[in-house]
Amino acid sequence: LPCHDKMGIPICGACRRPIETRVVNALGKQWHVEHFVCAKCEKPFLGHRHYERKGLAYCETHYNQLFGDVCYCCN
Ligand SMILES: [Zn+2]
Ligand SMILES: [Zn+2]
Ligand SMILES: [Zn+2]
Repeated sequence: LPCHDKMGIPICGACRRPIETRVVNALGKQWHVEHFVCAKCEKPFLGHRHYERKGLAYCETHYNQLFGDVCYCCN
């Protein structure tokens, strides 16, 4: 198998396969759009906003649920 890294083709951080379509850059890695998911509910963000915490990505709902101990609107 040719080395995709050297060929400049991004490798998905989830499935470790080359990404030939749209690439998501997040958490210092690259992901298939459909493989970049919330660490809690595993729903893909599909271009929606995500929230990062300790190297994991969360949807808004779960980020607030898990870490939203500070008032969301006025901190
Ligand atoms: Zn993937
Ligand atoms: Zn979620
Ligand atoms: Zn408030």
